[in-house]
Amino acid sequence: MSKRPLLSVRGLRKAYGKRDTRFEALRGIDLDIFEGESVAIIGKSGSGKSTLMHLLALLDKPTEGSIKLNGKDTSKLRQGKLNELRNKEFGFVFQSFFMNSNDTVLNNVILPLKIAGVGFRERRRRAMEALKIVELDDKAKNKANDLSGGQKQRVCIARAIVNNPKVIFADEPTGNLDSATGERIQKLLFGLNEKKGITVIIVTHDQDLADKCGRQIHIADGEIYEERTRTDFDGDGDNDGMRDENNIHHIDIEEE
Ligand code: ADP
Ligand code: MG
Repeated sequence: MSKRPLLSVRGLRKAYGKRDTRFEALRGIDLDIFEGESVAIIGKSGSGKSTLMHLLALLDKPTEGSIKLNGKDTSKLRQGKLNELRNKEFGFVFQSFFMNSNDTVLNNVILPLKIAGVGFRERRRRAMEALKIVELDDKAKNKANDLSGGQKQRVCIARAIVNNPKVIFADEPTGNLDSATGERIQKLLFGLNEKKGITVIIVTHDQDLADKCGRQIHIADGEIYEERTRTDFDGDGDNDGMRDENNIHHIDIEEE
């Protein structure tokens, strides 16, 4: 492999609980993600998708295994450095991360910039710019709580991109939305991937959404059992290549 992966994990395991209640949510994951990719992590509920995403996003630590970011072993980073890195390089579209509902839309979007120490005028300017991208600049002064589900999700996206991140992590980004709104969120995410080159990692149980990604990582019971790469992406969203058996290769972890 000539290009160095943005994120590289090896032998990743995650167990929750102790003794009787111990549960192995991830049981040895090997995965490389390259800059500019759109990757779906797909599997049934309880298969370990969110756990994997939390580890990739450096929000939680693995029980075993390594996570490298830009070739650097992240286990060696101190908490402060981790937080800084996450704030600077990552954007999050997580349902559970939503937001300070009593604060304004603008303040919610500003937050990562505030944490990063960006000055008052500049952070306002950039937050408004991000809100324009998701077409919610007219709601900047509204209380976040007063928005619809789809609008809230768009605020999440604005907040996720306001720091100009390298990677956007989205956990079931369209899960609670009607299909028209879901489509809009998808367009936004894939637009950021294609136009800005932002790496997009999406957790989903929705095959249609996964089909729109360049690569699909299928997981079950905490293991990758299949990986599909779309080789002939033609941008029309109908995924001609994805259904072609030749584009499906089964990962043999022993082989490496
Ligand atoms: P998915 O996102 O694919 O639905 P998760 O990664 O959230 O799955 O969870 C995988 C498994 O780990 C599930 O069986 C879940 O119950 C368990 N799990 C997740 N988080 C915790 C936790 N904090 N403590 C104990 N078990 C957990
Ligand atoms: Mg989940």
